[in-house]
Amino acid sequence: MTVTVRFAPSPTGRLHIGNARTALFNWLFARKHGGRFVLRFDDTDAERSREEHVEAIRADLAWLGIRPDLEVRQSERRALHDAAAERLRREGRLYAAYETADELERKRKRQRARRLPPVYDRAALELSEADRAALEAEGRKPHWRFLLDRRQVHWEDGVRGAQGVDTASMSDPVLIRADGSYLYTLPSIVDDIDLSVTHVIRGEDHVANTGAQIEVFEALGGNPPAFAHHNLLVGGEGEALSKRIGSLSVESLREAGYEPGSVAALAVLIGTSLAVEPIVDIDRLAGQFDLATISRGPARFDPRELAKLNARAVHALGFEEVGARLDALGVGGGAAFWAAVSPNLETVQEAADWWRIVSQQAMSQIPDAELCDDDRAYLAAAAEALPGEPWDDTTWGAWTAALKERTGRKGKALFMPLRLALTGRSRGPEMAALLPFIGRDRTVARLSARGL
Ligand code: GLU
Repeated sequence: MTVTVRFAPSPTGRLHIGNARTALFNWLFARKHGGRFVLRFDDTDAERSREEHVEAIRADLAWLGIRPDLEVRQSERRALHDAAAERLRREGRLYAAYETADELERKRKRQRARRLPPVYDRAALELSEADRAALEAEGRKPHWRFLLDRRQVHWEDGVRGAQGVDTASMSDPVLIRADGSYLYTLPSIVDDIDLSVTHVIRGEDHVANTGAQIEVFEALGGNPPAFAHHNLLVGGEGEALSKRIGSLSVESLREAGYEPGSVAALAVLIGTSLAVEPIVDIDRLAGQFDLATISRGPARFDPRELAKLNARAVHALGFEEVGARLDALGVGGGAAFWAAVSPNLETVQEAADWWRIVSQQAMSQIPDAELCDDDRAYLAAAAEALPGEPWDDTTWGAWTAALKERTGRKGKALFMPLRLALTGRSRGPEMAALLPFIGRDRTVARLSARGL
């Protein structure tokens, strides 16, 4: 039996970090077991599904390193769904019901008033042929419910362990709406059977549906797949992530300059018992990863943690790995410049800021407020003490040693006015490494622009 998993997004919006996490769990599981990964677009909702989202989801998955073995779309599989519905009707497991939403709500109200669970009373099963004909003559169209067994359904969940659901406590689920369209349940199960899906790995918001879904699998003659329901992401402060989905789309994280390996590492590893580390090699992570490492409690996604993780990943990047990207960003200076700035970067694209800072002619953004009059006199003296070119990474040491001697300044008072005047920032890469890229002419200009 080949392990087969599926990731089944509805193309009604962008992939957010929570979906990416489900996709990655499936991907790693398939890798670990030498299995297949199916990308299935659950696009039966024609009104809300959009082609641009299909394309964006594909691109986001590819960016994360996920390469589906097969892609299918539910909208192209309607004949299979219809055949399954027909079979369930024939076997008495799918029955027509005619209540309007208002009527159902009134029933539930009455049940609650009598302290009964608000479970559908199956009144539609009592309708005769003639009753149905009369309702349809009134213009009512049926919706279709699955007749549950009303029993204990058990499964061994890959994350949560032994699980049981009593389907007697549930209403018979509606599989087909009055307008003939399918709700998610039936197409999903039909396709899982047809695609020989062996493992359904998805968020724990689906646990409650699993009992009924197992009954539908069995009614269709399929072996239910193994289920694993992973914990859900919450924001750094514990709030449900959905409130901030916009800002945590995979696209926005990519645009913010995060490496795919950092996003994937954080998405997968938070909420597991594994250490949160940058992913160097996805196959190695697949080797360590096990559904059993996923914790039961919610997983906290903290964007600050992503920044730290990304910084570690960027520091580990060699020039040969980023050279082409630096070129595209307009960053010069070759391997030496990368070596100078990379230890201080959180994202690769910040290298472009530093290249601009060292290479631009005018330094406009020096925060004047941070320099006092004393400092200005000091900068003028510093300009006079500048060594002649050629400059290398020993120039800064020689220059500041001479300045220390001459002015008696030391520590922060010695270095900070120079850093501010030369870079416009109070923090950044080692000045010794930056100075040769700024060069003597620009250094003189920047010091005299700020000096007295
Ligand atoms: N399209 C469903 C969703 O996005 C898939 C759920 C499942 O994996 O079964 O929620």
